[in-house]
Amino acid sequence: FMEKILISACLVGDKCNYEGKSNYTPKIKDLLEKYELVPFCPECEGGLTTPRDPSERIKDKVVSSKGRDVTYQYEKGAELAYNICMYLGIKTAILKKHSPSCGSNEIYDGTFSHKIITRDGVTAELLKRKGINVITEDDIDTLL
Ligand code: SF4
Repeated sequence: FMEKILISACLVGDKCNYEGKSNYTPKIKDLLEKYELVPFCPECEGGLTTPRDPSERIKDKVVSSKGRDVTYQYEKGAELAYNICMYLGIKTAILKKHSPSCGSNEIYDGTFSHKIITRDGVTAELLKRKGINVITEDDIDTLL
């Protein structure tokens, strides 16, 4: 029996980020001996296309760089991420830093000017509220 961990799909090599690229992180290879990884992209699963316009959290909404309100898709993706954690008994998630969905503790400030503020992405926020341990790719060593 290996513990399952939810992981941002872009970190394992899926080309699912807003530019249609991956954020492959070689360090995940070290995890495979101890954990079963469950890749998930909340933005794709929430119904957005790839590639897509970048979006940022602005107050209680998520808005694209072209002004499209994508709050529904972000919240849907977060709910689905939580559902998977529930079904599979997942207690830990490794989520890509700075993403408006996956970012943990640090995301962009909503002005599309690369300024970081202290806040969670939509999925990270929900998973934390539900008691799931959320870390970023920078903290993979803490699981090894
Ligand atoms: Fe990666 Fe998360 Fe963005 Fe999907 S939503 S591309 S998993 S950071």
